[in-house]
Amino acid sequence: MNTLAAPLPRRKSVPVNVGGVVVGGDATVMVQSMTNTDTADIDATVAQCAALHRAGSEVVRITVDRDESAAAVPRIRERLERLGHDVPLVGDFHYIGHKLLADHPACAEALAKYRINPGNVGFRDKRDRQFIEIVEMAIRHDKPVRIGVNWGSLDQELLTRLMDENQKKGFPMSADEVTREAIVRSALLSAELAEQTGLPRNKILLSAKVSRVQDLIAVYTDLAARCDHALHLGLTEAGMGSKGIVASSAALAVLLQQGIGDTIRISLTPEPGGDRTKEVQVAQELLQSMGFRQFVPLVAACPGCGRTTSTVFQELARKIEDDLRRNMPVWRQKYPGVEELKVAVMGCIVNGPGESKHADIGISLPGTGETPAAPVFVDGKKAATLRGDDIAGKFEAMVTDYIEA
Ligand code: SF4
Repeated sequence: MNTLAAPLPRRKSVPVNVGGVVVGGDATVMVQSMTNTDTADIDATVAQCAALHRAGSEVVRITVDRDESAAAVPRIRERLERLGHDVPLVGDFHYIGHKLLADHPACAEALAKYRINPGNVGFRDKRDRQFIEIVEMAIRHDKPVRIGVNWGSLDQELLTRLMDENQKKGFPMSADEVTREAIVRSALLSAELAEQTGLPRNKILLSAKVSRVQDLIAVYTDLAARCDHALHLGLTEAGMGSKGIVASSAALAVLLQQGIGDTIRISLTPEPGGDRTKEVQVAQELLQSMGFRQFVPLVAACPGCGRTTSTVFQELARKIEDDLRRNMPVWRQKYPGVEELKVAVMGCIVNGPGESKHADIGISLPGTGETPAAPVFVDGKKAATLRGDDIAGKFEAMVTDYIEA
């Protein structure tokens, strides 16, 4: 019996249309990212939005923090459209979002969604009033909002109130539990206020980001059980390099496996001057490795061991993967289904031929002491044996021929 293992069914959520991209409901889990340019620098922001969109970001968020940024938004939108990048832009607002949206109607119109952080939209009586002003702006311009709670800027009045209540009851909850409850409650109360203001449920997404893996899993599991809003997942301040990738993947994988999450962002701190598109690649690889979506052909490569003393096969695997990823925007248009392709690049005859036969096209390079010949398998059958100095080049050409055929 061949029964494929699968995640739990997706949690039912109300779908939200973000500039033509549906998030939630029956839609597939969407990948998004955020720029780190000064939005007032139009050239830099257009270039980064285009790079993120080209890499596969289906929605791009940009900071709107002052008048100059808000004034730049419609021009960024126009420039991107002229370049063929019809990617929905989300405005990230803090503190003065209500004012920026009111003073810059062209910005309010150009954005596909507004992100509101209920923790820093204002204090006391101003908080609700300014929150409502943003929601009214969203209603006027027919835009959805993401109510994005972040524990680094959690509503302190709400937290203090819940801490006081906990104390009066004799501390049934730990301080961490109260904080998690405040994060979830902040999102839910804000969503309630948005709906009371007149924003329909299919215009509201929620997120509740924290920076520790177990806290994130607990917060989203609770939030998912207490509402049917579409959820944006992300581990905030995940960090740099492998730490950020592992922490984000660990947290999001557990939630996605439970059917929780409608869109994801992997927040990685790039190395100075580093490539921002890395976070899109990681998000895609996470969804692809879990079997939710297929973005690029799968390149299966063995890890190598004492039977391989050269790095030829790792270099070939890396090159094939990079070439496939680079060519995908064009190939996806020309060869529908190309992302389903499986390529194997193996280091010796122990597992090489077997793995290669399971791929659409695979090569088994010679290990140390083996005959210097590399059998290539196409659709499970041996199609060629490559020899000589340019085995890698010949195999790359065979992969391209296979795709084009
Ligand atoms: Fe080692 Fe060969 Fe297995 Fe690769 S396929 S890990 S080289 S035994």
